[in-house]
Amino acid sequence: MQIYGIIGHPISHSLSPALHNWAFKKLGYKDKVYIAWDIIPENLERFLQNLDIFQVKGLSVTIPHKQNILSFAQKISPLAQKIQAANTLVCHNGIWLAENTDVYGFIQPLQQLNMKLQSALILGAGGASLAVIYGLKKLKINKIYISNRTMSKARQLAKNLGLKEISWENKEKLRPDILINTTPLGMSGKWQNKIPWNADLKGIKVVYDIIYNPNPTLLLKQAKKFNCTTISGLEMFIYQAQQQFKLFTGQTFSFYDALNYLNTNTFQRK
Ligand code: NAP
Repeated sequence: MQIYGIIGHPISHSLSPALHNWAFKKLGYKDKVYIAWDIIPENLERFLQNLDIFQVKGLSVTIPHKQNILSFAQKISPLAQKIQAANTLVCHNGIWLAENTDVYGFIQPLQQLNMKLQSALILGAGGASLAVIYGLKKLKINKIYISNRTMSKARQLAKNLGLKEISWENKEKLRPDILINTTPLGMSGKWQNKIPWNADLKGIKVVYDIIYNPNPTLLLKQAKKFNCTTISGLEMFIYQAQQQFKLFTGQTFSFYDALNYLNTNTFQRK
């Protein structure tokens, strides 16, 4: 049996075990299983040192380990190196490689839109915002604003990565072509009835909420009322998992089959 899994803290909300186990079954891998491990930062090193004993071949990595995981990897992809964060650790010929598939996951739905977008506003300046910034730059959207509750973090990112910062209180004055939420406001649980944008959405072409549960979030419901094109975090989630699965197995699964599976089997039960 080959073991794969996700490490993070907290981890109970993760859809990754459902998705990867569905994909293993769908593609006929009877010898692979995917597990969720709740690992606190103090236990990360000890956990990683013992992977070979348990036949672990690949890991998805989430909050709060995306940065610290790099020091464990024997090889770091140029992308993970550039962003200084990885969401995947995979063992190839005995060598542990750290990779970042969040950027791929983020840009795929945008590439399919085939719209000309020139300006962006990112809400939030945490770990996920780094993949978003890099993705926007890859798509040649060069006018990027960032706004964060803690202004100093947005300012630091703006300074380091050539963005413009705008205060959390004034952000609604901007009308970017694309608005991206990377804060947890709107996420299931205590934030579900919150929205990170306190104004109308007139003039904004695309609203992308990287939260994947609930789907749609309050922000996306609001965006639909203003006829904005909307993208859900569920799309990003499936695409990042698709690339991760390819690193784990060399094979890929259908985006639409995965979407259908998650919509009918995972969200309906909640
Ligand atoms: P993080 O590193 O903890 O950053 C969270 C960000 O949200 C920080 O900028 C924080 O601001 C801000 N924030 C937190 N609470 C807030 C509040 N009450 N009001 C305003 N701002 C608030 O988290 P992350 O790794 O960036 O992840 C953020 C979200 O992205 C999560 O919901 C996660 O599930 C989602 N995500 C989705 C995918 C996907 O595949 N769809 C992938 C990665 C992440 P401060 O700096 O002021 O604390």
